[in-house]
Amino acid sequence: MDGLADKIFNTNDFAPENVGGSGAPLAMQRTLANPIGCIGVGLHSGAQISLTLHPAPVNSGIVIRRSDLGISFPARFDLVTDTRLCTLLHPENRPDARVGTVEHVMAALAAMGVTNAAIEVDGPEIPVLDGSAAPFLFLLDCAGLVDQNAAAAIIEVRRPVRIDDGDGFAELLPAPSFPGLRMEIAIDFSASVIGRQTLQLDLTQSMFRHELAGARTFAMAGEIDTLRKAGLARGGSLENAVVVDNDRVLNPAGLHQPDEFVRHKMLDAVGDLYLAGAALQGIFRANRPGHAMNNRLLRALFADPANYSFIRPNLSPNLSRAA
Ligand SMILES: [Zn+2]
Repeated sequence: MDGLADKIFNTNDFAPENVGGSGAPLAMQRTLANPIGCIGVGLHSGAQISLTLHPAPVNSGIVIRRSDLGISFPARFDLVTDTRLCTLLHPENRPDARVGTVEHVMAALAAMGVTNAAIEVDGPEIPVLDGSAAPFLFLLDCAGLVDQNAAAAIIEVRRPVRIDDGDGFAELLPAPSFPGLRMEIAIDFSASVIGRQTLQLDLTQSMFRHELAGARTFAMAGEIDTLRKAGLARGGSLENAVVVDNDRVLNPAGLHQPDEFVRHKMLDAVGDLYLAGAALQGIFRANRPGHAMNNRLLRALFADPANYSFIRPNLSPNLSRAA
């Protein structure tokens, strides 16, 4: 944990020239310089799936494409229909065109400031790869990223919004003087190898790369049979998930970090919250969060227009700054 305290509330990544007059970051829209892809297994379907990340024009947002069905739809919170073990979306009235486990690739896109891209798969799930976001970051690094000639939109949290499910809570709070997304997460598991873990970090490219991207998804050994009987976790293995049996980790190589679990929960939240459709500006605070709570929180945020401001700069950033 050495050095972690230094990173809390570290705003060095927010270069002054990227901060607009409202205190919010005025970043450019960004896409991939080249398409790039990989093949991997789906965590829940067990299917072998081909993934390609494509560049996309200004203002197209993040789009999910099922190449096998010829169907595209926006990666947006209101199309999420299942949050049991991953975040799964499908277009309205087309449950057959579902795409699950979007959260890790969405987290990598969010952290790298990619605002326009098409995520193409030929099956019902994003490949799980090693269970973290590091392989997606690697793909983006290999593809290269290019800024586009338009300012990126920002969703500024204007009023506190909170979801409480009795077991935990998640909330979004305004942070008028802070230019990005500040994240505070606590988890509490009866498995002694996890226990209670807390993490407080600001979402920046370098924070994500060094603190969150490599944290893998995890499962309890005792629950895996139940998951498989429910048709889930068919592609799960020690190659793509940390498996916990109370006081021990079953993966022979152990954990990447002692608090890998809370780091993964924060990674999931970064991806789930990017389904807002643009970068959030404010504070995300959660105790025992999960995909369902993250999605309910976005639905609550957007349920009342007074809760947020959607800032879409009309002028080019240079003109905006000069004004
Ligand atoms: Zn995850």
